[in-house]
Amino acid sequence: MNIQSANKRIRLIMELRNQGITDTNVLSALERVPRDYFVPEYSKDQAWDNIALPIGLGQTISQPYIVAFMTQSLKLSDRDKVLEIGTGCGYQAAVLSHLSRRVYTIERHKNLLKSAERRFNDLNLRNITAIAADGMKGWPSINGIDQAPFDKIIVTAAAREKPPQELLYQIKIGGLMIIPVGDAGEQVLKLYKRESCDAYAVRDVMPVRFVPLLPDVTNEKNDMEMVVNS
Ligand code: SAH
Repeated sequence: MNIQSANKRIRLIMELRNQGITDTNVLSALERVPRDYFVPEYSKDQAWDNIALPIGLGQTISQPYIVAFMTQSLKLSDRDKVLEIGTGCGYQAAVLSHLSRRVYTIERHKNLLKSAERRFNDLNLRNITAIAADGMKGWPSINGIDQAPFDKIIVTAAAREKPPQELLYQIKIGGLMIIPVGDAGEQVLKLYKRESCDAYAVRDVMPVRFVPLLPDVTNEKNDMEMVVNS
């Protein structure tokens, strides 16, 4: 890492601290994960700025402040099993991987998933399992093996009216889920706590802007068409 990029990194961490990110484990995870490695070549210069950036296929990597804020609100422990919906470029999953026992992450765009998996591999992040699926249906049973329930769930695309039912079911009792809910322009980040089998406490945390949760998995051909058209 050159000096300029090291300085940018430190500046970002100080800015996050000033914005109210107080959990030092979260701050050091953001300092450790090379965000420049997750963004396209043409935006590498801005990788350490506190802004969202495009990652292709009409999707975005969230602003570092939002990543830090959502991560902090999950109160992670190194024993936690975490589910992420919306792998995107894999940045949020990489941050989670430093703060929890295992990360399960789901992406509906196969091409995005492939590049994210390559990054996990290159960065030697061995506790992340990533699949292409519709995350609104929760983590599927694979070869008869269930991973649900999860200690924590983080959804990085917005649900229209309310969280998908299957994700509410997959929170462990006592566990937390952070999820943006609402139509474009009026989304709110909500924090759910599962208090018992059928009781959830919910708190509105702050207004946000995320891409929407969409159903189904997209295949390579559709991805190519979207790239050509965008
Ligand atoms: N967490 C990501 C940013 C996510 S952008 C990062 O750190 O880069 C939101 C992502 O959610 C997009 O990649 C989008 O394709 C994905 N997505 C939208 N609906 C989905 C669904 N139903 N299941 C899985 N992924 C979904």
